[in-house]
Amino acid sequence: MHVRRKLVVGNWKMNGSLAALAELTAIAAAARRAPGVDVAICPPFTLIAAAVARSGGLAIGGQDCHWAASGAHTGSISAAMLKETGARLVIAGHSERRAEQGEDDSTVRGKAEAALAQGLQAIVCVGESEAERRAGKAVERVGAQLAGSLPDPGGSGDLVVAYEPIWAIGTGNVATAADVAEIHAVIRAALVDRFGDSGGRIRILYGGSVKADNAAELFACRDVDGALVGGASLTAAQFVPIVEAAAKS
Ligand code: PEP
Repeated sequence: MHVRRKLVVGNWKMNGSLAALAELTAIAAAARRAPGVDVAICPPFTLIAAAVARSGGLAIGGQDCHWAASGAHTGSISAAMLKETGARLVIAGHSERRAEQGEDDSTVRGKAEAALAQGLQAIVCVGESEAERRAGKAVERVGAQLAGSLPDPGGSGDLVVAYEPIWAIGTGNVATAADVAEIHAVIRAALVDRFGDSGGRIRILYGGSVKADNAAELFACRDVDGALVGGASLTAAQFVPIVEAAAKS
């Protein structure tokens, strides 16, 4: 039986400003009060260096990176560039990027592998659409995304998987504890199948409208090792109670 530290990651998406970094002070203080929980914030690229400078030890990450090390990829950022800014982690394959930038599973896998090769923690996102869930295809969809998006067994590094049902992101609709437990069990089995015993050490986050009032119930689910939080990570007032719920779980 593997003991996994809870991990709570805030994804600011295309929100925030230098002024918004003031929120990090209270978030970092909450993280220090919760030594058993890993806490990270992923602001937009332009804020990462400034966020690292005032993070108070809080881990700062990127929301994406390119799969290539360098070259003719206008507008993109490599994993090494992220690392140089002081980032410690990166999100790969968020459903908003899969939808808006047309990222497919092999792209996501390349990004995760590039991040891990730089020693960054890579958070690979998977999750079904509302139509897929209604059609009873959630397990099949997530299984296919894992098969295509996870990096090679050889170099699993600090890999994290985030289960983010698309219909729950930013909508206020949270998956039921039973649905979360079902999919997290499927993900755990796939990780063990793919990586052997070390698959039991990989953390699986839930993401999709996690808030202060539902975090404790989600963290109590088997194989929920933390949360990827969008909207509620933008202010310390909303994010800190989620960190505190993780600490108590
Ligand atoms: C996310 O962006 O990964 C997310 C889960 O967003 P929200 O918490 O706002 O649903």
